[in-house]
Amino acid sequence: LVTFKDVHKSYGTLPVLKGVSLTVPEGRVVALIGRSGSGKSTALRCINGLETIQSGTLEVCGRKLHEANCDLRHLRMEVGIVFQSYNLFPHLTVEQNVTLAPRLTGKASQAEAHEIARKVLEQVGLAEKAKAYPEQLSGGQQQRVAIARSLAMQPRVILFDEVTSALDPELTAEVLKTIEQLAQSGMTMVLVTHEMSFARRVADEIIFMHQGVVWETGDGSMFDSPQTPELRQFVGSGL
Ligand code: ATP
Ligand code: MG
Repeated sequence: LVTFKDVHKSYGTLPVLKGVSLTVPEGRVVALIGRSGSGKSTALRCINGLETIQSGTLEVCGRKLHEANCDLRHLRMEVGIVFQSYNLFPHLTVEQNVTLAPRLTGKASQAEAHEIARKVLEQVGLAEKAKAYPEQLSGGQQQRVAIARSLAMQPRVILFDEVTSALDPELTAEVLKTIEQLAQSGMTMVLVTHEMSFARRVADEIIFMHQGVVWETGDGSMFDSPQTPELRQFVGSGL
C-alpha cells in the first residue's frame, strides 16, 4: 500500500531522508523507531503528501507521489494521520469534530455522518461522549477522539506520530490499547513510537531509522539481538 524506493528529501540544504526504501503491505502494521532527528516524522509526512520528495519514488494507495500532478486531495482522504497534538475544535462536540471532515468533503450526508460517528466512537470506546466538548475529556480521551476523527474518513492507511508522548502513563495505556485493537481489526498502519514494548507487541515489522536511512528491520526479536551497533546502542539507551 506504501512503497518508498530510494527516497531523498532535504529541508533546504539539510538532507533528512537519504535513500529510504521500505514497503508497507495492506493490512500490516509497521513501526518506525530511531533517534530524534533520524527522519521518522519526515518519512511519515511524505506518505500523506505533507512533504514533497526530491528524488526516488513513493507510491501510496496506487498514487505516485513523486509525480507533479499527483492528486493530493484524494490521497489525504485515503491516508489518515494522527499527531501528538490532537487539535480538536474546542467549540464543537466530539460528534461534530468526528463528522466534520466526512461532511465537508461530501463523503457523507448528515444522516450517514451520524452513523459513522456512532461507529467510530464505539471503536475507540467513547460512544457515551458524543455530546461532550473536548475540554470535558481527559488527554487520552481527546486523543482517542482524534483517532476516531481519522477513522471517520474510512482511510486505507493511518499514520500515527508519537500520539502518546504528551500523555501520562495511565492515559497512554488506553490510547495504545485503542491502536492495538485497530491493528487487530486489520487496519494498515504506520506508527512512529518511542514505546518499544508497544512496537514489539503490535507491529508486524519494525524499522529502525538512523541518519535518514533504514538501518535495520525485523520483528520484535530484533530488540533481543540487534545486528548493528547503532541499534544496540539505541535499545540500550532505553529510548
Ligand atoms: P523526533 O524523534 O525528534 O521526532 P524525527 O526522527 O521525527 O525526530 P524529523 O522530524 O523527521 O525527525 O526531522 C529530521 C531532521 O529534519 C531534523 O534534523 C529536523 O531538525 C529537520 N527538520 C524537520 N522538519 C523540518 C522543517 N520543516 N524544516 C527544516 N528542517 C526540518
Ligand atoms: Mg518526529
